[in-house]
Amino acid sequence: MRVVLLGPPGAGKGTQADLIVEKFGVPHISTGNIFREHVAAKTPLGLKVQGILDSGGLVSDEVVMELVADRIGKEDCAQGFLLDGVPRTTKQAEILRTVLSQSGRMVSHVVQIVVPEEVLLERIQGRSAQGDSSRSDDSAEVASHRYQVYLEQTAPVAKFYAAEGILSEVDGVGSIDEVFKRICEVLV
Ligand code: AMP
Repeated sequence: MRVVLLGPPGAGKGTQADLIVEKFGVPHISTGNIFREHVAAKTPLGLKVQGILDSGGLVSDEVVMELVADRIGKEDCAQGFLLDGVPRTTKQAEILRTVLSQSGRMVSHVVQIVVPEEVLLERIQGRSAQGDSSRSDDSAEVASHRYQVYLEQTAPVAKFYAAEGILSEVDGVGSIDEVFKRICEVLV
């Protein structure tokens, strides 16, 4: 099972990703988490991407996909993996397809968590207003920039996978358990 989880910021991707990896026993590959670890450890990569993360922009396709290619080439990904937060551009989706095809693999499922814009903005603004987020990119302005970037750069990724016939859209409004149940129904 090689799954790509798509959805706008605030859709609950991280929460659902944790549940999916627990149930299906595949590694969770979150490019956002990888970058945040580099930022926290002040590695050369972390110093390079910190400003981009803080502003809600995107790290370059080449940098992201080099990390991903390396990660999915590891032994623990032989039986599958869950990609969370990547691909975020059509170019990344193309690179992913090429990298996987080199080892005779392809993405098996793409799950798009669908949440209306008003609900997303409420969730994100609630999270930043309560100050209960450890993320430095959770302020209202940055959140709205991240959403614009999503619409412009990442929404087309769903179309890319729809054209390949492997996209499933899942209603992301409801309790965590309800949304997870819907996701499990398409991961068959
Ligand atoms: P996330 O936790 O997935 O929302 O990612 C946090 C931040 O990391 C994003 O706002 C981007 O700045 C960067 N990032 C994560 N994944 C990618 C990606 N696939 N392509 C470009 N930038 C990324």
